[in-house]
Amino acid sequence: MEDCLFCKIASGDIPAHKIYENAQILAFLDLHPIREGHALVIPKDHHIWFEDLPQDLATQITTCAQHIARAMKQIYRVERVALFYTGIHVPHAHAHVVPMHHVHDVTSAAYLRDGADSFSAPPQMPPEKMAEVAATLRKSL
Ligand SMILES: [Zn+2]
Repeated sequence: MEDCLFCKIASGDIPAHKIYENAQILAFLDLHPIREGHALVIPKDHHIWFEDLPQDLATQITTCAQHIARAMKQIYRVERVALFYTGIHVPHAHAHVVPMHHVHDVTSAAYLRDGADSFSAPPQMPPEKMAEVAATLRKSL
């Protein structure tokens, strides 16, 4: 993909602060970090959505993120590291790896009803609705 920022980073046409690289994947620092160390792990080939990645590639990305997370726990002395894909900003699948210093570092607004110092659970769905949702998802797998 000629106009893809992450393809250009993967090919070396645009510089990045690289953490790890092999023939298929690349890990580098996010230019807009939530926390120091916030890293992105991408496939070198252009895939837009994580759910469309070949299984081996998805596994490589997760394994790389595990190594980065273990390093982050040592370096930043954090209890947990977040791993997530959002598909926002650059249309090239990228996994975010973020050392979590605060429980709301990567939170959803749905958890913030009572502010950033506590952790609100969104309202529960009725059990019948949950059963329906689960059945719908199961049927679609
Ligand atoms: Zn790309």
